[in-house]
Amino acid sequence: MTTPPAPATSVARPRKVLVLGAGVAGLAAALRLRDAGLDVIVLEARTRPGGRVETLRGFPNDLHAEAGAFFVNASHVVLRGYCTRFNIPLAPIPNDTAGMAVWFCHQSRVADSTTPAAGWPVTLNAAEQQAMAGGLGILGLWKLYLNAALEEVGKFPDFTDVPEALRRYDEVSVSQFFQQQGATAGAIELLGLGYFDLWGDGIEQVSALMVLRDLAISVLPPHVKMSGAAAAPPPAADPTAPPPPLAYTMADGNDSLPKAFAAHLAGCIRFERAVVKIEPGPAGVAVTCQSESGLERLEADYAICAMPFSTLRFVMIEPAMSPAKMTAIADLPNTSVCRVFLPLSSKQWSMSSGAGTSTLVEIDTASTDLRSQWLHNPTLVQPGPVGIIEAYAAGARARALAAMPADQRYAAAAADIARVFPGSGSPIATGVTKNWDDDPWARGGYCWFRPGDMQRFMPVLASPEGRVHFAGDHTSASPGWMEGALESGLRAAEEVIAAP
Ligand SMILES: Cc1cc2nc3c(=O)[nH]c(=O)nc-3n(C[C@H](O)[C@H](O)[C@H](O)COP(=O)(O)OP(=O)(O)OC[C@H]3O[C@@H](n4cnc5c(N)ncnc54)[C@H](O)[C@@H]3O)c2cc1C
Repeated sequence: MTTPPAPATSVARPRKVLVLGAGVAGLAAALRLRDAGLDVIVLEARTRPGGRVETLRGFPNDLHAEAGAFFVNASHVVLRGYCTRFNIPLAPIPNDTAGMAVWFCHQSRVADSTTPAAGWPVTLNAAEQQAMAGGLGILGLWKLYLNAALEEVGKFPDFTDVPEALRRYDEVSVSQFFQQQGATAGAIELLGLGYFDLWGDGIEQVSALMVLRDLAISVLPPHVKMSGAAAAPPPAADPTAPPPPLAYTMADGNDSLPKAFAAHLAGCIRFERAVVKIEPGPAGVAVTCQSESGLERLEADYAICAMPFSTLRFVMIEPAMSPAKMTAIADLPNTSVCRVFLPLSSKQWSMSSGAGTSTLVEIDTASTDLRSQWLHNPTLVQPGPVGIIEAYAAGARARALAAMPADQRYAAAAADIARVFPGSGSPIATGVTKNWDDDPWARGGYCWFRPGDMQRFMPVLASPEGRVHFAGDHTSASPGWMEGALESGLRAAEEVIAAP
C-alpha cells in the first residue's frame, strides 16, 4: 500500500489544529484553542459529544441515569468552574445519605454507621475492631491502613516519573499493600468491598500507587485523609450550618456539560468521523477519517489526540511514534464496567430483613460481594417518588454480567437487589444496561495500572510526539475522572499554543 507523504504544511497563522475525539478532554482543548484564535476542527466517531459522559433518558417520570460519569466531586475545581461558566446547575448529593451506606458480604447486610465491629461477618484483630468503633465502620479501617501512605503520596500531587519515594507502592497490588500494613484477611475482604475493587481487575491486580494517588488527590476530603483529632471535619463558619457537600451531580444530567461545550464550538465539530489513520510529520500532521461518504484526509499544523488508548490502538499510526509511546498505546489496560439500571416503584430502599415491618429509607449506595457489586441510587437528587437502582460491576464481575443477554442481566441485578434490600419497590419498566467493553469508541470504562505499570507508562502517556499532542483522562493525574480529562485538554491546548 502506498502512503501519501506527510503534509509539509507551513505554520501560517492562525494555526490549524485537529482534535481527535469530542469527549470532555477534546472539547476543553478545542474551546481553549478557539478562544486563543486558532483554527480548530474536532473529529468525533459518534453522533454526539461527550464520549464517556453519557446520560441515559427515557425512564418513567422523566428520570435519567448516567451510563458513565456521575459524581462531580467537590474537590474538582476545573469541572465545577466549567459548570459555573456554562450555568449548569449542580445537585448536591446530601452527605447524610452518602454516609448512609450499606455493606453486604457473606450473605449479611451491615449498616455501617450502627454496627459494632463484632457485628461484621469476618474475623478482625483488636486494632481493627478498635479502628471501626464509634460508628466509623469500614472508614475506620481506611484510616488505620491508609493514612500514613496517603500523607506521603499526597506530597506528590502531580508527577510523570514516579518519584523514588513512591515506587514501593507501585511494586505491589492493593491487597499486598494492605497485607504489608498488617491487615488481616477479614479486613482486606471488607476493604475490598466497593471503591478499591471498582478499578481494573480488582484489589489483587491493581497497583497500590494508582488507588493511593486517586484517593489522595481526587476522592477524599482533607479531614478524611488526616489522622487522629483532625479526623473531624473543619469547623464551619456557622457551626449550625450543615457541612458542605462532598459531591454533586449535574441536575439535568451530566450530558449538560458536553452539550454546552458543543454549543460554544458550533461548526467546529464533525460527527460520525472515525479516525483511522494518523500521519505525524516534521511540519504537520495528516489524519484520515472514515465517514458515511468514505475516507477523508485532513491536514493540519498540529493534532491533539483525545481518544482513549483503548481505541487509539486500532488506528494506524504511520510513521510509528516512539517505541515507548507505541507500547503504552498497545498495552495500557481498561477497566471492564457493566451497569444495569432498573426503574423501581419507590426510590426508598427497604431495610427489612425479610420478615416483620419494613423500614423504607433513602440509601445512596450498597457495596457488596455479589455479582452486581455496587448498588447505587442515582435518583435521590431527582424529584418524585419513583426511582432507579443501578448495579455497577467492574472487572471479572462486569464481564460475567456482560456475558448474559440483557433480560438475564436485569434478572441477575434484581435478584441481588432483593437479597440486599428485600421488599424494596418492584420494577415498573424494563431495565437499561450499558457494557463499556462493547462500546466501540471506548472499549472499556477507564484505564488502570497493574503493579509496575505506573513506572512503565506514566512518563510517556502525556508526552507529545512531534506535532501530535495527547489529552484524555488517561494522560492526567486523575484517570477515571472528568476533572482529569478537562485538565488534560487544557494542558494539551497550552502546549500547542506555546509551540514554536
Ligand atoms: C462507568 C464510568 C463511570 C464513571 N464515573 C465517573 C464519575 O462519577 N465522575 C467523574 O468525574 N468521572 C467518571 N468517569 C470518568 C469520566 O467519564 C472520564 O474520565 C471522562 O469522561 C473521559 O473523557 P475523555 O475526553 O478523556 O475521554 P472520552 O470521553 O472517552 O472521549 C473520547 C472521545 O473520542 C471518541 N473516539 C474514540 N475513538 C475514536 C476514533 N477512532 N475516531 C474518532 N473519535 C473517536 C469517542 O467517541 C469519545 O467521544 C466514569 C467513566 C465511566 C466509564
